[in-house]
Amino acid sequence: MTAISEPPVNPADFERDRTAVADFLLRLRRKRITDPRILAAFEAVPRRLFVPHSARDNAYLERALPIECGQSISAPELVATMTAALDVTADAQVLEIGTGSGYQAAVLSRLARRVYTIDRFRTLVEFAELRFRTLKLQNITTLVGDGTLGWPANAVFDRIVVTAATEKVPDALFRQLRPRGILVAPVGPVEGVQKLTRYAREDRGIHESVLADVRFVPLIPGKAERL
Ligand code: SAH
Repeated sequence: MTAISEPPVNPADFERDRTAVADFLLRLRRKRITDPRILAAFEAVPRRLFVPHSARDNAYLERALPIECGQSISAPELVATMTAALDVTADAQVLEIGTGSGYQAAVLSRLARRVYTIDRFRTLVEFAELRFRTLKLQNITTLVGDGTLGWPANAVFDRIVVTAATEKVPDALFRQLRPRGILVAPVGPVEGVQKLTRYAREDRGIHESVLADVRFVPLIPGKAERL
C-alpha cells in the first residue's frame, strides 16, 4: 500500500494547520481571490487529507504533489485560480474531469449544488470517496470512467472543469455545457506547458480567455485497465 492519506484523521492536526491555512488565504487575497464564499470553501476543506502522508505537514506549500497511480494533486493556488475562474453559483451542477485526490471536487462541493467527478483510475475514485465520507460531503457523485466522453446521463452542466492536460477540449464536453455555462481546462501540449483556458458560453458563441501557464498530467482517453 502506498502512503495515502486515508482516514482516520486526528482533529489536532487540523488545529496545527491553522497558521498554514491563514497564510494560504492571505496568498489568495494577494492574487485577488477575495470572494468570501471561495475563501470559506478553502478554509473548510483540510488539504492534509488529500496529500500523501509524508507531505501532510506541508500540504499548503505552493506546489503540486504526487498521489497514487502516478498522478498529482495541483498546487493550492492553482486549484483556487480554477475555482475562481469557474464562478460557481450555489445552484450550479458542476462536472469535474480528473478526480485525482478529490481535493478540487471537495472545494467545489462547498460552492455548488452538486459535483459530478470522473477519473479513469478506480483506486483514485475509491480513495477520494473515502475522503468525501470522512468530511461528510454528501453532494459529490463519482464515476470511474472516461471523462473525455463527459457524463451524458447527468448532462447538461452549468460548469465543467478539466484537471488534466489536453491538446483540445473534447467536443462532448462542450455539448454538455449549458448555455451561459463556463468550462475551464489546461489546453496545450500534454508533455509541455499548457494554457489554462476559460470558455464562457455566451449567446453569440464561446468567449475564450487564457488565465495562466500551467503543467498538468495528461488527459488520456479510456478507462484505466489496471489500478
Ligand atoms: N483534480 C485533482 C487532480 C487531478 S490530476 C485533484 O484535485 O487532486 C488529473 C487526473 O485526471 C488524474 O487522476 C487522471 O487519472 C485523470 N484523468 C486523465 N485522463 C482522464 C480521463 N480520460 N477520464 C477521467 N480522468 C482522467
